[in-house]
Amino acid sequence: MLRNFELLYFRNLVKLRKDDIIKGMKTEIIRMDEGAIRKEDIQKAGSLIKQGELVAFPTETVYGLGADALNKDASRKIYAAKGRPSDNPLIVHISEFSALEKIVVSVPESARRLAEAFWPGPLTMCFYKKDIVPDETTGGLPTVGVRMPNHPVALEFIRGAGGYIAAPSANTSGRPSPTLASHVFEDMNGIIPLILDGGAVGIGIESTIVDFTGEGISILRPGFITKEMIEEVTGMPVQIDPAVNGTSPDAKPKAPGMKYRHYAPKAELTIIEGANQKAVMAYMAQLCKKALEEGKRCGIMVTQEQFKDFQELDGNPGFVMKNLGHEGDEASVAKTLYRVLREFDEEHVDVIYSEGFVQSGVGQAVMNRLIRAAGHRILFVPENG
Ligand code: AMP
Ligand code: MG
Repeated sequence: MLRNFELLYFRNLVKLRKDDIIKGMKTEIIRMDEGAIRKEDIQKAGSLIKQGELVAFPTETVYGLGADALNKDASRKIYAAKGRPSDNPLIVHISEFSALEKIVVSVPESARRLAEAFWPGPLTMCFYKKDIVPDETTGGLPTVGVRMPNHPVALEFIRGAGGYIAAPSANTSGRPSPTLASHVFEDMNGIIPLILDGGAVGIGIESTIVDFTGEGISILRPGFITKEMIEEVTGMPVQIDPAVNGTSPDAKPKAPGMKYRHYAPKAELTIIEGANQKAVMAYMAQLCKKALEEGKRCGIMVTQEQFKDFQELDGNPGFVMKNLGHEGDEASVAKTLYRVLREFDEEHVDVIYSEGFVQSGVGQAVMNRLIRAAGHRILFVPENG
């Protein structure tokens, strides 16, 4: 599959060269089962990385698109392959703690404690970088985000590839992040030489990003590791970047990636919220009926417990309902969200209505992604319907 690279917009720092773009490349997928990781496969992936190529790999959060983080030309290829704006920095993935000190200026005690508590795991920490990390990797920032992923394939791959892997999520920019190797193939076939297939990811949304380059500790992007967990380990108060879950699209986020339209399905998605759940479901069913009458295909995203409220619409050929997990279990929603958004793309729905979730714990990370996927479209249903 060839892509229209003319559409990519590259500004200031990363100027694309002709040879950054390889069209019609053969993309190989290697299955890597936990506990049965073959040495020759790791070697193959490692040598591609050392040659400056891109390799997609599984992590516990989402699939990553990896390149040698210390090779500026390799990092540039990531931006080209994803169509990623050049000011959106890449996270550097490491496989052991000692690697951190080689690429950052200093590591505060509270960050050490967090690493001890949560690495390997879904936590990225930002520090001032050393010169060894090229500007192309950090989108021109003097800081670098670093993470040690908790996935056996990812850790072996990083080790075999020299220890420093720059990797954003392995989707085309603006699409939902990949939680299966087949999602990566959809977006990267013909563009990268290799995808390591480790099956379905465990968490399903990207890492929590914590910043140590400002005053105190702040969360730039919510994830599976919550504010409360970070406060407990560090014993310090943790700020949340005001742009994180604001419903205003205007706040300027400190993580550059948070300002872009993200995770979006092709259809127009709207979140329906309200204190009275029965009223919310009834309103969603009503909106859906109206869309169907107008000849649109309509998607509904709700937890399994709400399915009964949509029985009336069952059997209508334009109606597509997707299971988002379980009520009160936001981790189950995190795990299914991106897959469901991609499935709606395949089923060509025109409009989607989703229920909202509590903005605490993992729910905060879920809502952060959902609000962006919805382009900040939220409808509130009054208490009495
Ligand atoms: P992705 O891996 O696709 O989730 O993208 C990486 C995210 O990390 C983007 O939102 C970036 O803006 C953010 N990020 C990476 N490095 C930094 C950094 N040094 N400072 C702030 N945000 C960062
Ligand atoms: Mg991403």
